[in-house]
Amino acid sequence: SKRDDPYAQAASEVDSPGFLLTTVERLAGLAQARSMWPVTMGLACCAIEMMAAGTPRFDMSRFGWEVFRASPRHADVMIVSGRVSHKMAPIVRNVYDSMPEPKWVISMGACASSGGIFNNYAIVQGCDHIVPVDIYLPGCPPRPEMLLNAMLELTRQVERKPLFGHREEIARAVEAAALEA
Ligand code: SF4
Repeated sequence: SKRDDPYAQAASEVDSPGFLLTTVERLAGLAQARSMWPVTMGLACCAIEMMAAGTPRFDMSRFGWEVFRASPRHADVMIVSGRVSHKMAPIVRNVYDSMPEPKWVISMGACASSGGIFNNYAIVQGCDHIVPVDIYLPGCPPRPEMLLNAMLELTRQVERKPLFGHREEIARAVEAAALEA
């Protein structure tokens, strides 16, 4: 019977009057969100937690994020993990510029987001002075579970993003915030 035969059942579903509507944009978002390749950007102690997120205990590969890339040309997300020194800032920007669009940035930890405890001449007071940040993750350091949560939040954003449009959205938000200030 059809009930026992999955192929016959699938064929009858195709013949049924129901149909599914979606958009190319939505399909592209779903595919993109489930295959994110982070570029390695471990800068300080937060990087240890980022690396732990890739181990079997936390298993970030469950969400399609396991392929850390040493080349920015192969990556679409940068996890800035740790404090950014002024000496390192141009390199971070250079790596970001070398990543193909579309691309995203997670600022991992207090130092990456605001300089953290290092309010001094040597440290950039937030990596958003250098690159546009999509997700700010608090903590010193954030635990791997927190990074997984940030990744899933970014996944939701990527799913809903307009094709090739999210950089302009960020630029508009930054402009609006600057006008309000
Ligand atoms: Fe290190 Fe804390 Fe700064 Fe992360 S937030 S780089 S753990 S001092």
